[in-house]
Amino acid sequence: MSTPKDSRPLNPASLVVSAGRPAVTPDGELNPSISLNSTFHAPNASGAGYGRYGNETWSALEEAISALEGGRTLLFGSGMAAISAVFNMLPHGAVITASKNGYSGTMSLLKKLESDGRVDVRYVDVSNTSEVLDSLPGTVLLWLESPTNPALEVADLPTIITAAKKLNCGVGVDNTFATALNQQPLSMGADISMNSVTKFLAGHSDVLLGSLSTSDGALFTRLEDQRKLGGAIAGPFEAWLALRGIRTLAIRLKQSQANALEIATRLSKHPKVSKVRYPGLPSDPHHATAKKFMKGFGAVLSFEIAGSAGDADKVCSASKLISQATSLGGVESLWERRHRWSAESPSIPENLIRLSVGIEDVEDLWADIDSALGYY
Ligand SMILES: *Cc1c(COP(=O)(O)O)cnc(C)c1O
Repeated sequence: MSTPKDSRPLNPASLVVSAGRPAVTPDGELNPSISLNSTFHAPNASGAGYGRYGNETWSALEEAISALEGGRTLLFGSGMAAISAVFNMLPHGAVITASKNGYSGTMSLLKKLESDGRVDVRYVDVSNTSEVLDSLPGTVLLWLESPTNPALEVADLPTIITAAKKLNCGVGVDNTFATALNQQPLSMGADISMNSVTKFLAGHSDVLLGSLSTSDGALFTRLEDQRKLGGAIAGPFEAWLALRGIRTLAIRLKQSQANALEIATRLSKHPKVSKVRYPGLPSDPHHATAKKFMKGFGAVLSFEIAGSAGDADKVCSASKLISQATSLGGVESLWERRHRWSAESPSIPENLIRLSVGIEDVEDLWADIDSALGYY
């Protein structure tokens, strides 16, 4: 269904609506159904066979994500399950080069693998291209997050990926913040594009899921084995909900990105704000890099208030429309002081607030933010 009869490729805003639908048959379903089966008839021992190996509802969502990312996709029970499947595949003692300001879950997992003696990790500032390139010799896996969560740094993905592939390093990109609508790591040569589907793709803060997309057939099979044996599989209902969410991804992202730019612009002029991080702001140090290859700059921004951690907590508690909660990428705006969680990296300032901008009316959002900033 995702391939139209003529060969003109569909644009992403159409793909999100059309991909992953069942084949057209009279009275056939327009939407995939929720396949509630732990096993399937298998007279010839062919097909998925068992519910840990495959599921029609997963396949529909995987097809939709593949239509956006390129390659083929494997769905996992969470973003962390997807990342773990990649890291678990590495040989003992492998060197991983990773963003030093990445997602706290990824950072904690890397620290654990290091302290268990499983891997060696080189932490780099992904926005410093020469620092990343210098760390490549000997690296087995370059794990890039860009933009990073919550520092909003941007890596020069095309340059770094090309250099890494010349040296035969495996390259994985955590594409959660940008989504495939803003950047396609596989088309830049990355081996894996990973998503926390929990965030923008599902988009409604009601499911946890993760995905890995790859154009490399042999790698796909190895990752699929990781999923089969690791067993961190998705539930069919979650897959169905995420596919329903993806249908509106293009329009949600358009609205939330426009809101994010407006809010970032206003925050950067606010007397109680000392620093705003958003790659879409022309004054942002990462704007020039991002503009080279990103189609949009996402809907997450971070800012530091001209005050203490306690003041930042007061601000986040004072909002009425924006919820004080972790996570991001949903229709509703969320914010929090990141360091209230002990897992947050020490390089993130204590007074940094991360704001995931939703699709609400921007004037309502601004009124809420402006009033909350008056609480300290
Ligand atoms: C949330 C997040 C993850 C982890 O995904 P879960 O679905 O919560 O397991 C990984 N990377 C980034 C950038 C994230 O924001």
